[in-house]
Amino acid sequence: MTFYPYKNGRLHIEGVSLDELAARVGTPFYCYSASAMETAYTSFVAALGDLPATVCYALKANSNQAVIRTFARLGAGADVVSEGELRRAVAAGVPAKKIVFAGVGKQPSEMATALDAGILQFNVESLPELEALSRVAQEKGRVAPVALRINPDVDALTHAKISTGKAENKFGIDIPSLRGFLASAADLPGVRIEGLAVHIGSQVTDVNPYRTAFERLAGLFVELRDAGWPLERLDMGGGLGIAYRDDAAPDIKRYAEIVRETTQGVGCKLIFEPGRFLTGNAGLLVTRTVYVKHGTARRFAIVDAAMNDLIRPTLYDAWHDIRPVAQSAADAPREPYDIVGPICESSDIFAEQRPLPTVAPDDLLAICSTGAYGAVMSSSYNSRPPAPEILVRGNDYAVIRPRIDYEELIGQDRLPEWLEDEGVSSEPRGAA
Ligand SMILES: *Cc1c(COP(=O)(O)O)cnc(C)c1O
Repeated sequence: MTFYPYKNGRLHIEGVSLDELAARVGTPFYCYSASAMETAYTSFVAALGDLPATVCYALKANSNQAVIRTFARLGAGADVVSEGELRRAVAAGVPAKKIVFAGVGKQPSEMATALDAGILQFNVESLPELEALSRVAQEKGRVAPVALRINPDVDALTHAKISTGKAENKFGIDIPSLRGFLASAADLPGVRIEGLAVHIGSQVTDVNPYRTAFERLAGLFVELRDAGWPLERLDMGGGLGIAYRDDAAPDIKRYAEIVRETTQGVGCKLIFEPGRFLTGNAGLLVTRTVYVKHGTARRFAIVDAAMNDLIRPTLYDAWHDIRPVAQSAADAPREPYDIVGPICESSDIFAEQRPLPTVAPDDLLAICSTGAYGAVMSSSYNSRPPAPEILVRGNDYAVIRPRIDYEELIGQDRLPEWLEDEGVSSEPRGAA
């Protein structure tokens, strides 16, 4: 099933034409297919079968309220990494008992908010963090539920900037230091260690590294429980990748089999934290061509989206499929284009030497697989208002984040008193 069909020669998202959306909100804009999200979620849950699993959607992939609620309606919990995300999850209706709080640098104020909300667990990554959490909980006369995030020292075979499970990464507690860690943790009155967690990285497409990580995690779980720790849950993290091009998507059935095999007989509840897998292929960033420039060496299509809207190509060398909204004949001649944004940075590039049918000014292009780590990573660099977001379901759509206007963008700044009433001279500097 495709969620992005060409109908009457124009690209659609589900039943809605991208031309209509462009006319409604202007370009660039993000649009998401609710059906694609729902299908990804149900396929994930179906693969897990009868495993005792809670699926906690990792908000950082796409934290729009409408997206979170789409998953919450299907029964999902949430994996949050900041107080802001915690508040977003609660506001979207995710039950607190299905929220896990991850991240290496939680602040005491964030811990307090999460304790008050009554979340399922804090995934703790260091002793100082555990001590801080214990203090915060004690002050409230509470005991915080904790899962220790283990660094399994496994190479997730993904991009270095999204690899998190190696000993040299900042994440998790090293297995060799775990016993010493637990000796210190035993005396902390404000925490109860109820689980273990891993998260080896993102955009993992070869599922084999999961086997090593989960084996180590399950082995530790049994060992610690036998030693008397009241463990109940294993948090398997997220990271399952998607197909950005015609390469193979990770085999979700094999992933589930690996989970089943490595946790068989352990007797614990399981938590999963998929982010990208649920939203990545559910989104398009739609942009309009402003100019086509023929350089001596290259042909540039300069579009109205930029690296402030989608940073993945710049940050991770990510490859995104780019489809013209106008359908072209299968045998239409193709020429290589560099698809670039208007920002004053050489790295403001979406694609290099991409073969496309002729691109002309005003042509709409859809940058595919941008539902995860797209809008959430956007900024207003170059004073560009962030792109609006639209959620589509069948023939319906709704603007789920409007474009802010320039007054709002500029109005966030404040002048200090000493600059306030002094008029600004329009004379050239030094003019009499
Ligand atoms: C980022 C993150 C996730 C989600 O990663 P995806 O690759 O989007 O699935 C899950 N858990 C933790 C702890 C994370 O940091």
